[in-house]
Amino acid sequence: MERTLLIIKPDAIQRRYVGRIVTRFEEKGFQIVALKLTQIPEKVIRRHYSAHEGKPFFEPLVRYMSAQPVVLMVVRAKGAIAVARKMMGATFGANAEPGTLRGDFAISNRFNLIHGSDSPEAAEKEIALFFKPEEIHEVADAQEGIVYDLSAGERI
Ligand code: UDP
Ligand code: MG
Repeated sequence: MERTLLIIKPDAIQRRYVGRIVTRFEEKGFQIVALKLTQIPEKVIRRHYSAHEGKPFFEPLVRYMSAQPVVLMVVRAKGAIAVARKMMGATFGANAEPGTLRGDFAISNRFNLIHGSDSPEAAEKEIALFFKPEEIHEVADAQEGIVYDLSAGERI
C-alpha cells in the first residue's frame, strides 16, 4: 500500500480548515497512519523544499512554512501519492479546479493550504524527515475490505 506525506499548511490552520482537510482524505478511503501538530524548524523546511532552493519564491516559502505550526500526516491508500495530488489541485489556488482542496478554498499562489509528496522517492524521504519510525502506526485497516474489493487477492 502506498504512503504519502501531507502537510496542512499554516494558512489552513489559521482558517480553521484542518478538520475539513482531514475529512476529505478519510472520506476518500485513505487511512491515517501518523499525525501531529508541530512547528517545523527553519533548517528542516529548507531541506524539505531543497529542490526549490534559489528560486525567487524560496525564501518567502521557508518563512511561511516555518513561522507557525503545521499539521504533518502520513496517509495510506492505493496510489496515495497521485490521488492526493489530484485531490489537492494545481499549485496556484486561482488555477486549481473546483472540487479540489485548493480549487475550493485557495486563491493565492503561495498560501495554498496543503503539501503532498510528488513521487514515491520524495514520499519516503519526506516521511523520514518528519517522523520517527515509532510515530507511524501501520495498524491493520478494519475497513480495507469495504473500501476495496479484495476478493481477487489484490486491492481493486
Ligand atoms: N510557491 C510559491 N510561488 C510559486 C510557486 C510555489 O510561493 O511561484 C509555493 C507554494 O506554497 C507551493 C510551494 O511553494 O505549494 C512548493 O511549490 P511546488 O511547485 O512544489 O508546488 P506543490 O508541489 O506544492 O503543488
Ligand atoms: Mg512540490
